[in-house]
Amino acid sequence: MASIGSVTRQVASLEITNKRTTNSSSSSLKSAHSKHPSQSNVSKLLTKFAAPNPLHSSSNANKPHHSSSLRHPTATTKTTTTHSSSAARGDGLKKQASIDIGQYDGGLELENEKRGERVFGEAAQELALDSSHLKKYPTREWNLHGFDMGRPLGKGKFGRVYMVRTKCEPNYILALKTLYKSEIIQTKVEKQVRREIEIQQNLRHPNVLRLYGYFHDEKRIFLMLEFAAKGELYKQLSKHGCFTEKRSSRYIDQMADALIYLHGKHVIHRDIKPENLLLGINGELKIGDFGWSVHAPSNRRTTLCGTLDYLAPEMVESREHSEKVDYWALGVLTYEFLIGNPPFEDRSSMKNTYRRIAKVDLHFPPTLSAEVKGLIGKLLQYEPEKRLALTEVRKHPWIVKYRPRTASG
Ligand code: AMP
Repeated sequence: MASIGSVTRQVASLEITNKRTTNSSSSSLKSAHSKHPSQSNVSKLLTKFAAPNPLHSSSNANKPHHSSSLRHPTATTKTTTTHSSSAARGDGLKKQASIDIGQYDGGLELENEKRGERVFGEAAQELALDSSHLKKYPTREWNLHGFDMGRPLGKGKFGRVYMVRTKCEPNYILALKTLYKSEIIQTKVEKQVRREIEIQQNLRHPNVLRLYGYFHDEKRIFLMLEFAAKGELYKQLSKHGCFTEKRSSRYIDQMADALIYLHGKHVIHRDIKPENLLLGINGELKIGDFGWSVHAPSNRRTTLCGTLDYLAPEMVESREHSEKVDYWALGVLTYEFLIGNPPFEDRSSMKNTYRRIAKVDLHFPPTLSAEVKGLIGKLLQYEPEKRLALTEVRKHPWIVKYRPRTASG
């Protein structure tokens, strides 16, 4: 069996494959961790073990494209592989197939007996989700038989998440998330779930968790998600209490880059908080939950949503809001990373939290550097228009100071 190290390296090689294909943010700045030292090794591994995906051939290397070999076969049949060493590739595939994905606990079958019902009618149609039918980026047809099941990764509101490997080559490692349709319908979030899936399916950014495909059966929807090897960021924050300025700065740099990308696609996240962030193989941040995000060509929404502590004043006051609510949340996140709790938290009453947000009742402990206080203050502005632009966040001295140096500079 391969070690955990080799699992993560293999996963990283897939990640890099994705990174190469990413149409990065509108910002001209490079992603903060695009040249993380360990990634040069990962790149070597990629060359050695990369999946034989025609779309990743050298002739296509610089062209932005939008999928992986999890695509529908018809989408790729006319191209040929150009990997230099088929022997090395074979070796890589063998290794991918031998990655230890852990012990499956039979949880899906057990749960399926006890949980959920068959669904009918309009809501059922809403949830008949299958990425192989997509017009723009069809994937191959998937079902549960297409995967070797591995260890449980966690339980979500609507079902379990498992580490899995595709049975077909190149034996991708993924996180398979189940959602029970009847429970989605009971909580009246079928439109939201569908929207979440549609949004995530279209996103490609190194700091946004990738959704490769999805399929469904009578009771459940299955999401084939990028495997976030280092798990939940929230757990790290709980473990350490707070993060150093260096670590926080690097996360905020990646968040800003991902948000620039999302806003460029007219996606407002609206629920930024540590609980919605996962960590990839190199500890890079992955925005992993699009439950509240909204595709907003009009850029104007008035629904009250999101997590209390991260709500911007315009949301608390039920005014119109725009992508600038994510700027505010980025300021709250910076504060929480450094201090361990959000700036306007009032455990005695929600009303007080609202009040403190509306007044921008912000206090800094003396331990914070003047630089980061300046940045947080510029993001936590009552007037959305006065908040520091995300491109400026990425140029802020507190961010630039801690950004890993790239090979070129
Ligand atoms: P969720 O339903 O998204 O809340 O997921 C439940 C739990 O499964 C999370 O708290 C994570 O610990 C884990 N999990 C979800 N998605 C992934 C993923 N893509 N990679 C690794 N772990 C995940």
